[in-house]
Amino acid sequence: MVIVMRENATDQQINDVAEKLHEYGLDVHKVVGTQRTILGAIGDVGNVDHRAFKIMDGVFEVHRISEPYKLAGRIFHADDTVIQVDNAVFGGNQVTVIAGPCSIESAEQLLTIAKAVKNAGAKVLRGGAFKPRTSPYAFQGLGVEGLKILKDVSKECNIPTISEVMRESQLDIVAEYVDILQIGARNMQNFPLLSEIGKTRKPVLLKRGMSARIEELLMAAEYIMAGGNYQVILCERGIRTFENYTRNTLDISAIPVVKKLSHLPIVADPSHGTGLRNKVAPMARAAVAAGADGLLIEVHHDPDHALSDGPQSLLPSQFSRLMEEVRMIAWAIGRKID
Ligand code: PEP
Ligand code: MN
Repeated sequence: MVIVMRENATDQQINDVAEKLHEYGLDVHKVVGTQRTILGAIGDVGNVDHRAFKIMDGVFEVHRISEPYKLAGRIFHADDTVIQVDNAVFGGNQVTVIAGPCSIESAEQLLTIAKAVKNAGAKVLRGGAFKPRTSPYAFQGLGVEGLKILKDVSKECNIPTISEVMRESQLDIVAEYVDILQIGARNMQNFPLLSEIGKTRKPVLLKRGMSARIEELLMAAEYIMAGGNYQVILCERGIRTFENYTRNTLDISAIPVVKKLSHLPIVADPSHGTGLRNKVAPMARAAVAAGADGLLIEVHHDPDHALSDGPQSLLPSQFSRLMEEVRMIAWAIGRKID
């Protein structure tokens, strides 16, 4: 942490700041310039609230120079984390696609979609059983019955699965039936849930909250990793901005930013990121070009009658075409989609 004093800061004010740094157990490196004095804090600043210094008399600005996410950050873990779930690999050279319906609606529905997406090259089957719906009157998911369908279809099609866990009391049952746990955007900062997931050793896909900064996403990952679960896949799924043509604004720039700050894989979800079927493919292509380690795409064979998110779901034929396109894009940037 670096504290820049005001030009007219008095010796007393500078000493008060240095004294406070000492109280936190930090060493102080003082640089006296011609205009102003700068104090560098040396030591573990993890528990220091920088605002305590910002409000002190004579202080101009305070800069944090080390990141608060130690386990999720690249500083102590330079190499990319690679997470393998059966044949699906997240991180490294592979670009891996997760696909399936928003909600599991019936065994027939899921099997039809699973066969189509697997055939086109998806490596993980998605399907929500516990759905976080804006309206309490909307379809809330089939619950455990849906998880059972997901497991049966997974076995029949030989494909690993992902499904959302919304609360701590669902964790054991969801973990029993699926290969990857999904934390939805609305739960990104449900810290008790994150801590419980940290105690499991299940891979987890953590979605960015719709109003979360990248740093907050990485701190949410840190919660899971602090419990010893290092298998965290991050997901950019769009954020709220002033633009309302699309459902959310898919923050493509978050992908290279996260790749620089963190060793964890990041996938993009252009389905929730745009909310519009005809915008999914362009944004999926852009995400792969920007360096995403994977995609999460909603697919439905009869989207007009889907129980959730039909307007943003691709038809199987559109999904197959998209897979061909992203294969070429991955190849063009030295990566591959098996
Ligand atoms: C989902 O993946 O179906 C979902 C509800 O996503 P999000 O949490 O990103 O809204
Ligand atoms: Mn959905």
